[in-house]
Amino acid sequence: MSEDFIEINADLHIHGLYAGGTSEKMIPKIIAENAPLKGIQLIGTGDILNKHWLKLIKEQLKEIQDGIFEYKNGTKFILQTEIEDKNRVHHIILFPSLSKLEEVYEKFSKYCKDLDTDGRPKIHLTGEEILEICNLAGCLVGFSHAFTPYFGLYSKFNSYKECYGKYWDKVYFMELGLSADTNMADRIEELQDITFTSNSDCHSPWPNKLGREITRFKVKEISFEEIKKALIRSNGRGPTLNVKFDPREGKYHKTRCTGCLLFFEPKKAEKYNWKCPNCGKPIKKGVDYRIEELAKWKEPKHPKHRPPCIHIIPLSEIISLAYNIKNSWSEKVQEKWREFVNKFNNELNVLLNVDISELESIDKSVAELIFAFRSGKFQYIPGGAGIYGIPVPPGKKIEIKYFKDSQKRLIDY
Ligand SMILES: [Zn+2]
Ligand SMILES: [Zn+2]
Repeated sequence: MSEDFIEINADLHIHGLYAGGTSEKMIPKIIAENAPLKGIQLIGTGDILNKHWLKLIKEQLKEIQDGIFEYKNGTKFILQTEIEDKNRVHHIILFPSLSKLEEVYEKFSKYCKDLDTDGRPKIHLTGEEILEICNLAGCLVGFSHAFTPYFGLYSKFNSYKECYGKYWDKVYFMELGLSADTNMADRIEELQDITFTSNSDCHSPWPNKLGREITRFKVKEISFEEIKKALIRSNGRGPTLNVKFDPREGKYHKTRCTGCLLFFEPKKAEKYNWKCPNCGKPIKKGVDYRIEELAKWKEPKHPKHRPPCIHIIPLSEIISLAYNIKNSWSEKVQEKWREFVNKFNNELNVLLNVDISELESIDKSVAELIFAFRSGKFQYIPGGAGIYGIPVPPGKKIEIKYFKDSQKRLIDY
């Protein structure tokens, strides 16, 4: 790598305390204090179209250049929000400056009642119209958790080009979402030229949520222009690593009933018209099957620019598993977590880089599980229907309950 490039870990999609269902601890100062413990240098501000949130950002952080704010510990933030369009598709927007933010705010406010009440406002415009406004203001737009049912672009469209109309070629990135990864998404032909980002989309600032997924970028410095170049992959800048959940841990990975939580072979769910013959509740299509429908290739075709994609489990969850403690907030788990992070600088370093023999010096059983994880030996009860998947250490028995026709009982067709 040429000397003047640096690599940074970035989490470009979070939500602040004004978004629904978020922790009241989700304030800029606490997020910034936790970032270095996780190993992140750059965070999306989240919710920046909300005036109250913008006020907190301005109060607790300092604007060091256009579009970039900094906390006193050096953690940097880029102006960012997520919005929902009139087709119920979620988009991520990055803004180049406060004045451009204001410009977009003025335009969006004509199509939105709740810009200042919600964190993720609903804008009554199409993806194409949103992109027109954002493009004019020099913002960057991508789509969030691309494949998830409800709000992922591919739950409403078969191609991102349909969503963005004549501005499709101004879309440079796509967020994989917790339930998919690079191997899955690179089976889809139209995504070959798009940068994949992995972000936490977190609602709580603690390091098991903040940065649970990150994208590593090669840039010259942390600035809007450099992040833009990295997302567009120009002049040597670009993503160098996606760090994320194993997709099986994501909430929508497998096709599953939202009522009785039985898993379904997708073809069987189709046969029953996506209504559970066991309990009558809707069956939610899994991201794995949605990708199957969209895929051109059986195996992923990674374009040359695509960086590696590594799976992780939050360290506090690994410690909980090692000690068989349900609550990853227990004193014992937190104490061990602090020991690891104090010794090895940050959580991502512990999970990704530190030699197992060194990790053993702090705790043998935790080191063993990190080793098992790094060598791909973890098993999962997969997620689906809005329920997270559960990682299970190697050697333990797991049972995954699939619907069988013999279970058909409640509903008569
Ligand atoms: Zn979203
Ligand atoms: Zn059911």
